[in-house]
Amino acid sequence: MSIKENYKSIKDQLPSNVQLVAVSKTHPASAVQEVYDLGQRVFGENKVQELMEKSPLLPQDIQWHLIGHLQTNKVKYIAPFIDTIQSVDSEKLLSEINKESGKYNRIIKVLLQVKIAAEESKFGLEIAEAKNLFQQYAEGHFPNVEITGLMGMATFTDDEQQVRNEFSILKGLFDELNQSKTLNTLSMGMSDDFPIAIECGANSVRVGSAIFGRRDYSK
Ligand SMILES: *Cc1c(COP(=O)(O)O)cnc(C)c1O
Repeated sequence: MSIKENYKSIKDQLPSNVQLVAVSKTHPASAVQEVYDLGQRVFGENKVQELMEKSPLLPQDIQWHLIGHLQTNKVKYIAPFIDTIQSVDSEKLLSEINKESGKYNRIIKVLLQVKIAAEESKFGLEIAEAKNLFQQYAEGHFPNVEITGLMGMATFTDDEQQVRNEFSILKGLFDELNQSKTLNTLSMGMSDDFPIAIECGANSVRVGSAIFGRRDYSK
């Protein structure tokens, strides 16, 4: 199927309240432009360098989301323009985003990335850490960021029940935090598991290969 057919098919599967973040990592600016021309405005990249190379070639009104691990020393490059940083996995990173955001008089939107997968994943906050960080934020710390929600990735497995359990854990945390200060975004689900994520309460999905085709890392 073509990118256009893929995109239409994904859009058809998403309820109207679910945001699509089109994950364009490894794909050229021309492919992003093609999806932009179909009406898509929110795109996700996982590497700062790739984002810095691609974004100047593309329309200014794209809302870029960073979805991959972010080193604190790279925050300064994206702070002027990034719409949302979905991968906040430490207090140190949140502080740095807050500082850089302030330099540009911006309030950068962020999601706390929470470890929900059973498999050993390097990045993401433990649930207790996420609660602690959100508590600090709710008390007025980090004034130049807005924590708009949570992001998580389920284990890569065929066991649908496990995936469902993991997404449900994040939904539970989302509902709990939402009681102390309003959250809008629950980002979970990728090409292979977004229908399950939506059933479990996701209102934002990050879909790459099901739109752009398989990634070729050999290039
Ligand atoms: C690559 C990536 C995605 C998209 O994955 P697909 O399986 O291609 O849809 C979503 N979220 C994160 C954090 C990613 O790194």
